Amino acid sequence: MSCSSDPEMRKDPVVDRWVLIAPERAKRPGDLPVALFPELPNGCPFCEGREDQTPSEVFAIRPGSANANGPGWRVRVVPNMYPAVSAPSPAASGEDGDRRPAQGGGVGEVEFVSLPAVGIHEVIVECPQHESSLTVMPVEHIATILATWRDRMLQIRENREAVYVQVFKNHGPAAGASLEHAHSQLIGLPRIPSVIQAELDAVERHKGQFGGCLFCDLIEREQSAGERLIRSTDRFTAFTAFAGRFPYETWIFPRQHNGRFEETSRAQIQGLAELLRWFLGRLDQCADRPSYNLLLHTAPFIGATADYFHWHFEFLPRLTGVAGFEWGTGCFVNPIVPEKAAEILRQVK
Ligand SMILES: [Zn+2]
Ligand SMILES: [Zn+2]
Ligand SMILES: [Zn+2]
Repeated sequence: MSCSSDPEMRKDPVVDRWVLIAPERAKRPGDLPVALFPELPNGCPFCEGREDQTPSEVFAIRPGSANANGPGWRVRVVPNMYPAVSAPSPAASGEDGDRRPAQGGGVGEVEFVSLPAVGIHEVIVECPQHESSLTVMPVEHIATILATWRDRMLQIRENREAVYVQVFKNHGPAAGASLEHAHSQLIGLPRIPSVIQAELDAVERHKGQFGGCLFCDLIEREQSAGERLIRSTDRFTAFTAFAGRFPYETWIFPRQHNGRFEETSRAQIQGLAELLRWFLGRLDQCADRPSYNLLLHTAPFIGATADYFHWHFEFLPRLTGVAGFEWGTGCFVNPIVPEKAAEILRQVK
């Protein structure tokens, strides 16, 4: 592995994805235009006291006896006002709601497949006050947010409203957030998304070849090599991705094999919240409070994949743009060598 500033191509150890590590690119003038959140004429709809500006809540953490859709909550889940999928009807939920045949047909050798995008699209409003960042919240509160993700996933699984739930957080305008107030989202889908399928195929191949979990083996390699390791606790490990698409791209894994995020224990969630807050504080210092996307990858609700899949978080700090080369090739350009990024994240105080 080269330690010089010569550009290098790297392949992701899990999926078939290449990146260009090009340190010289960091020297060019500002990459991303500075974006700002729009002014909201009626104030922020996520703040406590403005519950009537969102659809009725589907879930909330309310420590007292406060009524639904009024103040007194700590975390609140509401349907997205502008959903990417349509809500399941009661008749369609349950048996085989996820297996309806695709509409459309073949034209010569070309197949046009379409199916109704029935699912769940929800916003998790992460706190009642107008805060923008998890880094100002107590660890206990971050644990409550993570437990909300888990509990909603469990409910969606039980109701068979989706086969896969993508939990994600867009923080900051450069990461696609449209509102400043801290929030995350979940989309429950009727099909397994292709990115997850690619990871499932990779873990299945690895299991056939070596007999174990690809992610457990990856964690062991990163723990012993240490060059990309940022922090390791008794339950979790955080390291920069070998073929990171963005500067400081970091993956967080439970160290014990665990396929399904929705089955994490309260103690695990507490440990995860501590590491998350620690990591985000470091990232803020290293990269001047960047926008980021946080993605949760977990085993789908269908299939026996949880035995060899391993849930994890992927953090994508949005410090570089995605432009023609990336769209054209699928290959991202990362100007900070992942080992250097880990060193900076470890050292900053
Ligand atoms: Zn607000
Ligand atoms: Zn594993
Ligand atoms: Zn992943």
